[in-house]
Amino acid sequence: MTMASGRCRGCGEQMMLAQTHAYLGGPGMVLRCPGCDSVLLRLVRSPTQTWLDAGGLDYVKIPAPA
Ligand SMILES: [Zn+2]
Repeated sequence: MTMASGRCRGCGEQMMLAQTHAYLGGPGMVLRCPGCDSVLLRLVRSPTQTWLDAGGLDYVKIPAPA
């Protein structure tokens, strides 16, 4: 995920997801936009599944492995 990039739905800023503000205190991970502090992405893992909500992003771009 560190090479993934995306665009914030709130302010339109494009960024690498590695440059966003990550909050790891809860049961999962929350990424917030460095520009407008909107929630970009939420990721929650359980033993049986991963739940991903990227509703704060217009898109996510993930480069193919080299
Ligand atoms: Zn933003």
